[in-house]
Amino acid sequence: MGNILFISDRLEKIQQYSDIFNKKPYNFTAISDENAVLEAAELNSPDVIIFDYKFNNLKKIIKNLKSINDSTAFVLLTQNGEIEQNITKYINSFLTEDLSENLILSTINVNLKTKQSLEQLSATNKNLADSLYRLNVLYSTSSQFAGSLDKEKLVNYMIDGMDKSLSFDLTCTLAFCTDTEPVLLLNSLYELSDELISAIKLRAALNYKSLFEDKTPPFEIDIEKLKVVKTVKYPANRFTFNLFRYDNMFAPISLGDNFFGCIEIFKETPFTSDDATCFQTIAQQVSLPLKSATLYQEIMETNSKLEKLERLKSEFISIVSHELRTPLTAIKNSLDILSSGKCGEINDSGSKFMSMAQRNVQRLSGIINDLLDLSKIEAGKMDYHFTNMNIHSVIEYVRFALSGVAKEKGLNLIAEETANLPEIYADSQRLEQVLTNLVSNAIKFTPEGKNIMIRSHLARAEQLNAPECFKEIVKKLDGEYIVVCVEDQGIGIAEKDLLRAFDKFAQIENSLSRKVGGSGLGLPIAKQLLEAHNGAIWCDSEINKGSRFYFAIPVSKIPAEKILVSN
Ligand code: ADP
Repeated sequence: MGNILFISDRLEKIQQYSDIFNKKPYNFTAISDENAVLEAAELNSPDVIIFDYKFNNLKKIIKNLKSINDSTAFVLLTQNGEIEQNITKYINSFLTEDLSENLILSTINVNLKTKQSLEQLSATNKNLADSLYRLNVLYSTSSQFAGSLDKEKLVNYMIDGMDKSLSFDLTCTLAFCTDTEPVLLLNSLYELSDELISAIKLRAALNYKSLFEDKTPPFEIDIEKLKVVKTVKYPANRFTFNLFRYDNMFAPISLGDNFFGCIEIFKETPFTSDDATCFQTIAQQVSLPLKSATLYQEIMETNSKLEKLERLKSEFISIVSHELRTPLTAIKNSLDILSSGKCGEINDSGSKFMSMAQRNVQRLSGIINDLLDLSKIEAGKMDYHFTNMNIHSVIEYVRFALSGVAKEKGLNLIAEETANLPEIYADSQRLEQVLTNLVSNAIKFTPEGKNIMIRSHLARAEQLNAPECFKEIVKKLDGEYIVVCVEDQGIGIAEKDLLRAFDKFAQIENSLSRKVGGSGLGLPIAKQLLEAHNGAIWCDSEINKGSRFYFAIPVSKIPAEKILVSN
């Protein structure tokens, strides 16, 4: 079918063209008044317009006609074959007076066909542009989903994405994930009356129940108490039609066993199958980030519970240790007075028990001091007194302090001095504490007759070699370090236990560690003290062959003369 508008002031021409086109599949209209062209074009929407003569302002008329329909074809019937040059570009085809009926028909048919093809092309283009726009919306919505772990924001992104791609009149989202209670989110184009909201609430609850058929739904809904959050785009207007007659789509928002809510969407004009796909896609897409956000929330809650427990534990340890220290000091003083003989002579077996009691009081006060140190470090309350110093003073102090204990156990404690080591910027008392612990452990875990060596050397971070489990720790070091090594020929530690030895209260399962006892705090304290020095500690060991404990302290970058000494 083709609509043809013919404009001519010659009756015989109107008759000729009417004879040709006044039959199917054409719809022919002829007018003789050039001023009626626009009106006729609006009325008949012609596919082809044939002008019989030259209008004075043909260009202007065609421009106006094109603004009504851009794809209309213009055909000019020339009376003497002469065409004005500047008019040709506006005209699709030309007819001459002497053309046969067949040629006229075929010229007009070609124009009708062309117009039809153009229209199809522009419809396809429009579909393509729509799909592209939708893809863009889906892409930007899914980017928003990927960038958030906030459940409320995720649900809002979902509704926003649906609005952009489907331009709905109303969405009702029953969300179980944004609050502790279920919430009904209403995103509406126009204002909703209270009665309508009540009806929507009931409908949302029924829709939700229908998802679970015979099974019990995961959440209970009390319609009376159901919270409604309303967002209205144009609050000055109200819905005038019955909303429930609008076209609608409904989908759950869930992933496996995780149910986050459901959404219903209404629109006055019918949804297409593309709309349905887009709706389902967005509702499905939001479920995965909602699940991640739920997991994230659970992890954060567990973390904060753990942090609270850790804090309570530290406080408890600190309080108990303080409380134990006072009576322990009193016991120690009493034992000292008794063993000095000031309160009378003690017989041999009495003094044996006395020294046993003194040894155990000593051990107990060691454990309490460790506990207090650890709680101070963890609370960030440990005091450090940094100075430029040489590591040999620390090594010599510890060798001197512990050589007696080592000798008592039949062990050789040897410290090798390396000449010309650069200074380190450190707290000597804390380094003595670290080295004392390492050497005490070496003495504890080495059988009689063996050697314990303390060595030190200068090394660059990349030269440091540590077992696989300490690689990450050593990798963080950078620059030059003084490395101290305590080597024993004792019971050793299995490779699988190396890292665990530095955990709080850790005692590696072996016959000796049970027998010699200990707090299991020496190494974790050493680790934290060294971290406060921007250093590190690690060890290398083999069962029954011995252990090598290393610690590294950065070489001082501050020249000794620049350090302010306070008295
Ligand atoms: P403890 O007070 O129990 O010695 P540490 O934190 O100093 O606590 O050491 C933790 C555990 O590491 C020890 O109980 C022991 O099992 C193991 N360990 C430490 N040093 C050595 C060593 N030189 N040889 C063998 N095992 C060791």
